[in-house]
Amino acid sequence: MENNFEKVLKNLPDGIELVAVSKTKPNELKWHMIGHLQSNKVKYIAPFVELIHAVDSIKLLKVINKEAVKNKRVINYLFQMHVATESAKFGMSCNEIADIIKSDEFLSLKNVNLTGLMAMATNTTNEQQVTNEFEVVRNCFNRLKADFFKDKADFKELSIGMSQDYKIAVQAGSTMVRIGSILFGARDNK
Ligand SMILES: *Cc1c(COP(=O)(O)O)cnc(C)c1O
Repeated sequence: MENNFEKVLKNLPDGIELVAVSKTKPNELKWHMIGHLQSNKVKYIAPFVELIHAVDSIKLLKVINKEAVKNKRVINYLFQMHVATESAKFGMSCNEIADIIKSDEFLSLKNVNLTGLMAMATNTTNEQQVTNEFEVVRNCFNRLKADFFKDKADFKELSIGMSQDYKIAVQAGSTMVRIGSILFGARDNK
């Protein structure tokens, strides 16, 4: 296990956060919520979650804000962008994200704090395709930064890269890789 961690860390330039993803084992580090989040589950994680990676609607964001108010805290989150060809993956287009950011509703949510974007590339061995998809996410991040968040220093995270494609993600400017199977072994299928 240690060896696997070392191998991954060797491949990560300084400053890139490694989010160790354990789907089946509990993990007492800081809690990141990375998967698709249902509104009715927000209340269970709101008291302690460090960062919610995959916010894919204003509706979900409003629920997170409400639960953050109840817990008297500000919850950091990333918008999930959809770039993969698989329709099963969640997320929004860059325009949809920009429309939310421009809305009065977004501005009224005081207990949530947007710190960047998250995305998953298509599950493919075609590295060029994965490179292109991460590039699209990076361009969206740059556009949002320039249009809305020039002075917001903590809008800085690009959560891209999983076991299969994290090296490509690092090339594309990832600040956080979410890695599971190469650290902990293949997922147990229930
Ligand atoms: C499971 C999962 C990961 C990690 O996937 P691996 O291929 O095991 O590295 C990353 N991000 C999300 C959203 C996941 O659900």
